[in-house]
Amino acid sequence: MVHSLIHDAIVIGAGPSGLIAADRIAKNGHTVIVLEEHKRIGEPDHCAGLLSSTGLQKLDLIPPKEVIQNMVYGARIHSPSGHSILIERGQREAFVVDRKLFDSWLGDRAHDSGVQILTDYKVKGLRGTPDGHYSIDTPREERFARAIIDAEGSRCQISGGVGLPQVPRQSKYPAYQYEVSGVDIDEDIVEMFYGRHISTGFFSWIIPLSDGRARVGIASRDRSKQRLNAAMKHHPVMQNRLKNAIIERGFGGIVLVGLPVKRTVAGGFLVVGDAAGIVKATTGGGVVVGGTASKIAGDIVSEAISNQDGKLILDKYESKWRSALQRELQTMYLAQRAITSFSDRGLDELVKGAHEMGLLDIVKKEGDMDMQGRVIFSLLKNPKMILLGLKSIRYLNPFL
Ligand SMILES: Cc1cc2nc3c(=O)[nH]c(=O)nc-3n(C[C@H](O)[C@H](O)[C@H](O)COP(=O)(O)OP(=O)(O)OC[C@H]3O[C@@H](n4cnc5c(N)ncnc54)[C@H](O)[C@@H]3O)c2cc1C
Repeated sequence: MVHSLIHDAIVIGAGPSGLIAADRIAKNGHTVIVLEEHKRIGEPDHCAGLLSSTGLQKLDLIPPKEVIQNMVYGARIHSPSGHSILIERGQREAFVVDRKLFDSWLGDRAHDSGVQILTDYKVKGLRGTPDGHYSIDTPREERFARAIIDAEGSRCQISGGVGLPQVPRQSKYPAYQYEVSGVDIDEDIVEMFYGRHISTGFFSWIIPLSDGRARVGIASRDRSKQRLNAAMKHHPVMQNRLKNAIIERGFGGIVLVGLPVKRTVAGGFLVVGDAAGIVKATTGGGVVVGGTASKIAGDIVSEAISNQDGKLILDKYESKWRSALQRELQTMYLAQRAITSFSDRGLDELVKGAHEMGLLDIVKKEGDMDMQGRVIFSLLKNPKMILLGLKSIRYLNPFL
């Protein structure tokens, strides 16, 4: 006989988005289970682990010492022909975390709040029942819930099954990273390398982990691993930084560079995090912005379970997360599109003109790693930026 179990909510996927939403639901006094296909939370990892300290604070997340590998105070941006600018605000802005340990810590935290987590448990699909529940397809027992939170990450297959739009293939960029030791870098700053010969549509990075170790990575529209190997060997700055580097391990993933999907709710089913395309297109970072939407999701689901009988309607999630994030995400997407529209010469002009545009002062005054819209708007209002933009228009890439 097949065993039947009923929960208030089922969360698909034990990444940060799923665990943050589940934590809220349990804290609000409801029964919630997280189903994770892998045997261990956080594994296999794919992320560079750069998370803003203010963003985490807003989510009430203060990671313990063992999760934090480093803290950095800014980023050096390298233009294609070797000009560079340092973007910083004179304070330590971001944690570099070990994502396996970070996710596992989020799992412990959710467990302590009363969330049940089952690993090695892949959800294959689901169906609605006449009494307003959802039933999950699993090879094991039958599981029912009134609310489903889809937090399955960038692969996002389940949401399509309930008629919601999925993150399009063209927004998914293959990424590859190495963890290396023996590097010669400034351990307080991240380095970002732009240029068509390095990556098409994105950039390459070196993220210091302290003690001469770093994560070196790239995302690109194509051939990310080959491009990373070539950049490490031939890019004059990278090659110098990495000349004595020993590769400890390599790992890949999918970086999302696009807009959120058009609809994220259908009845009692909602989508969060990468599965909904809730990421910063400028960097592919999704932990904080995805977590912000997930926290909202957890609260809306809790409120609906407390107040509604029968079938749940979770539409408030859509309006609430969009009013918190949509404008910012859209602005970052447009900025990313603008950056990738420039040829290498255009990017050189922009980096060379950054001082003139007042970029560094604007960042000092208004910079926020997660909500970059304010900086972008201030730049666009600056007459010097308009002049520089006009000057650089001749470098717009004719092939885009
Ligand atoms: C190379 C790279 C570097 C990055 N660097 C950063 C960075 O520095 N900072 C940052 O903020 N973001 C970064 N990101 C993005 C970040 O990793 C994601 O935005 C974040 O992990 C999204 O969290 P999530 O919970 O939505 O999805 P995920 O973390 O992908 O979690 C989804 C979970 O769902 C599980 N799952 C999937 N399908 C099923 C199923 N059918 N049944 C059960 N379980 C399932 C998966 O196993 C996984 O555990 C990076 C991404 C990549 C690829």
